[in-house]
Amino acid sequence: MADGVEGMERSAFPKLFSPLRIRGATIRNRIMSTGHDTVLPVDGTVNDALIAYHLARAKGGAGLIVTQVAGVHETARYTSHLLMATTDACIPGYRKLAEALHGAGATVFSQLFHPGREIMESADGLLAVAYAPSVSPNERFHVMPRALTHALIDEIVAGYASAARRMRAAGLDGVEVVASHGYLPAQFLNPRVNRRGDAYGGDATGRLLFLRRVLRAIRAETDAAFVIGLRISAGERDDEGLTAEEALAACVALEPDLDYVNVTTGTSASVGGAVHIAPPMAYAPGYVAPDAAAFRKALTVPVFVAGRINQPQEAEAILAAGHADLCGMTRALIADPEMPAKAARGAVDDIRACIGCNQACIGHFHKGLPISCIQHPETGRELQYGTLAPAAVRKRVMVIGGGPAGMKAAVTAARRGHSVTVVEAAAQPGGQAVLAQMLPRRAEFGGIVTNLMREMELAQVTLRRGVRVTADLLAEERPDAVILATGAVPHVPEDMPQDGSVQVVTAWQVLRGEVRVGARALVADWRCDWIGPGVAELLAKAGSSVTLAVNGLHAGEVLPLYVRDNIAAELHRLRVDVRPYMRLFGTAEGSVFLQHAPSGEAVEVEGIDTLVLCLGHRPVDDLAEAVMAQGIELHMAGDCLAPRTAEEAVFDGLRAGIAV
Ligand code: SF4
Repeated sequence: MADGVEGMERSAFPKLFSPLRIRGATIRNRIMSTGHDTVLPVDGTVNDALIAYHLARAKGGAGLIVTQVAGVHETARYTSHLLMATTDACIPGYRKLAEALHGAGATVFSQLFHPGREIMESADGLLAVAYAPSVSPNERFHVMPRALTHALIDEIVAGYASAARRMRAAGLDGVEVVASHGYLPAQFLNPRVNRRGDAYGGDATGRLLFLRRVLRAIRAETDAAFVIGLRISAGERDDEGLTAEEALAACVALEPDLDYVNVTTGTSASVGGAVHIAPPMAYAPGYVAPDAAAFRKALTVPVFVAGRINQPQEAEAILAAGHADLCGMTRALIADPEMPAKAARGAVDDIRACIGCNQACIGHFHKGLPISCIQHPETGRELQYGTLAPAAVRKRVMVIGGGPAGMKAAVTAARRGHSVTVVEAAAQPGGQAVLAQMLPRRAEFGGIVTNLMREMELAQVTLRRGVRVTADLLAEERPDAVILATGAVPHVPEDMPQDGSVQVVTAWQVLRGEVRVGARALVADWRCDWIGPGVAELLAKAGSSVTLAVNGLHAGEVLPLYVRDNIAAELHRLRVDVRPYMRLFGTAEGSVFLQHAPSGEAVEVEGIDTLVLCLGHRPVDDLAEAVMAQGIELHMAGDCLAPRTAEEAVFDGLRAGIAV
């Protein structure tokens, strides 16, 4: 057993901390990091950043780490930062990874991957020639594939086998064939995508041929100890997607060639189905478990499940109910690599629970950026921030502002040995996170405050609430250093034309319940983030007729895709009138005047009672001069430096806590 988990109390989670044996692998507990793209590799091979990322989770007690997809053929390049397993050049990197993770007690599998028509982007920006069983268009990426020839099918099958051989040579314990989310194997299984009339199409037996060949070729190239699993969506949740019944029937038929089935849901192929690839906080924790239960009932091999399993209590309940044999807790591990070890020793309150925001994990992936976590910016940056250097000199540090930036700065500085006091003007710490959790289906966002409060407690940070710091107070207390984290206030343009005929309020006033909004509301959304759509949704649900005028391409333009698409669905259901490209001009005679940004044409929206401003924020940094004038060391973090999001605020806090 590795450091961090040996000899720990496990009685609270007897199922979770029982080992699972599959062929030659003994997985020490039932906690899995599922295969997920990290964007840490830079040249298609495993690098030190990827090893450090996974090693942190292995040391934290994860039982099984399934590494991100590895392309099995040149036509498998679905992003520009894909790991490739098409030549022996991949072996040394995987070997180093396997040795490191085994040394920390984890079992290691690799996903083997071909996307078929699900091509997102390419390294050179050119549209790739995509291949699928048939010429069936992809909705989400607008890809029209070519039908695979028999020769290419043979090459791809051989590619899976060679990739598995390389993983075995590198010392990995097994591989997982990705047949989930509408990727190539699922395209073969799906009669609405696979329209072939040859041996690989037609009836269910024909549609299984590709996967059957792949699994048998892998076994032939490896050995009896090597684990071969299959990831599949228990229903792709799309009209054109693989159904739950089809997926289950395929698994039953393929079971003799499988060692486990890893159940997920959704598809990459459609906007609605893709939300389930990394379901945001709008989805209930563990919501896929009942689907997995049907697979477990029908199969004898172990069944794994993933899908918003955020806490060890949820995983234990799923295992105890017999819904699955092992739980994918990927984002829980991204947010807190030590989650298993904390659960094992009964310190569940110390776990930094994932809040399902999707911002820095899958959100970064969709921007082609390395993985991280808004609550734990050390994630994906293990080589730089994996260990905290103790402070050379112990200082009395005053952190002014108890929002996410101030709290993270305080925790970091205190862990380095400083004596830290957070001074918060409000009675309740949390800053804008307290408001954010009031938005519809964003209640879990408040978890960032709960988590940081606990971290402050553990780091022995002193918290003073309801105290507004002034120059006089600074002079009186004379801290050695100040970290300014005083946040921001809503931006209200001073020169906006208005005649008083339309009530003008800010989103903050609406969320705080300080104003009554009229029957017809227009939400002016400059940020194109959560706030405008969230306020629009709140008001629509309260009975107002709502126009959402976004100064961008669409509502939620800057948001993680699955969050954005989930919001788009809700706004549509509520019949919110969403107008893109709208720049706010002003109000007059009961109308709100906008400008269509690309054309420059004026747009009048008549009969508006209330205009809600979501126009961004202005920094509150007044105290900076007073701190400097008194010769006190100054650091700034979060929105007082520049109004952005919680992710930047927490990262600023980490850096300020290191710099002080
Ligand atoms: Fe969870 Fe958000 Fe962190 Fe992703 S960024 S792991 S969703 S808290």
